[in-house]
Amino acid sequence: MAISKLWVDEFDYRRNVLKAVLIVIIFAGCIFIVNNWLMGFKVYAVIQLGLVLLALGILTIHQKTPNLTLWSSVFLLALYSVILIGIYSTSFNSTLYTWLYIIPVLSYLLLGIKLGSLFTIVYLGAGVGMLIFAHLLSNPDINPIAIVNIALCLTAIWVLSYTYEFKRAAMIKRLQQMAAIDPLTGLNNRLHLDSIFEILCQSVPEKQQSVSMLLLDLDHFKRVNDRYGHDMGDAVLVKVSKLINDMRRRNDWAFRFGGEEFCLLIPDTSELQIQQIAERLRKAVEKDITIDNCTLNITVSIGVARWPADGSSLAQIYKTADGRLYQAKEQGRNHIITR
Ligand code: GH3
Ligand code: MG
Ligand code: MG
Repeated sequence: MAISKLWVDEFDYRRNVLKAVLIVIIFAGCIFIVNNWLMGFKVYAVIQLGLVLLALGILTIHQKTPNLTLWSSVFLLALYSVILIGIYSTSFNSTLYTWLYIIPVLSYLLLGIKLGSLFTIVYLGAGVGMLIFAHLLSNPDINPIAIVNIALCLTAIWVLSYTYEFKRAAMIKRLQQMAAIDPLTGLNNRLHLDSIFEILCQSVPEKQQSVSMLLLDLDHFKRVNDRYGHDMGDAVLVKVSKLINDMRRRNDWAFRFGGEEFCLLIPDTSELQIQQIAERLRKAVEKDITIDNCTLNITVSIGVARWPADGSSLAQIYKTADGRLYQAKEQGRNHIITR
């Protein structure tokens, strides 16, 4: 569940930003509606009422909707259009153009780098174009320096918003990788297990449904550390991980569960094939661990469980595989127990 959970956190972040923006716009919108109505700008007041109603509607669904980006885009499209209509139809002195500053900020916060950039280019371009053609060119009283100031300030906010979102997204990606990958061996770590197991159970073809779990635990590994030192122990773990990773097929998933315990999830494979795979792994570990010209006598015990034959949930499958691993240890280690 961990990886999907991280993505959920990412969407939670955007949901919270959207909520805050909607509340601010509803609040500000109500003030503008009353003001514009009283000032006689009734059409614009009605347009703003439409925006506020849209914001209220999105506020009621924003927590549950699976289409957060779509609704954020719809909202920004409406908000930016109202801002542009305002800039176009009122005088420069109304300072409505100051709302242009919010465009890059909201676009990047709500839509991310790609879509945010697109919205910023389109709407900021349209806004600045309107300022120039509808106000500056037709009104010689406006000091061009004012437009230069606005353009520079907009550029600064755009660059800052882009940089913030770019760095934030890169950091989230890095955190996701750190949460998913065991730093010593490069295998997936345990946090990844739930979501992968779920995906495999959902995606196995109808006829031959199975997901096998192989739990591997190195035998007497403490003795390796005690005899050769912790660094050599680490090197053994890396070597075993490489063996497991090299032997797995494209659709199999390899994990390190911390310590000297590993796991393989193998979809859609017969019991006989699983026994053969486990045996190949056991033999490979037994004969293949040489580090710095030093050959170590390493063995591994393996417990196997299969979904759905041994249980319907990951917890049941893990418990069964762990029980069988324990039996393999009890039987003298360097053993495989599959049933
Ligand atoms: P058994 O056959 O019953 O599994 O015995 P064992 O010694 O392998 O198991 P035990 O659980 O008693 O000890 C596991 C050891 O693994 C203890 C610890 O020193 C070592 N270990 C755990 N994590 C690491 C690691 O990241 N690096 C190294 N070098 N050793 C580790
Ligand atoms: Mg062990
Ligand atoms: Mg262990």
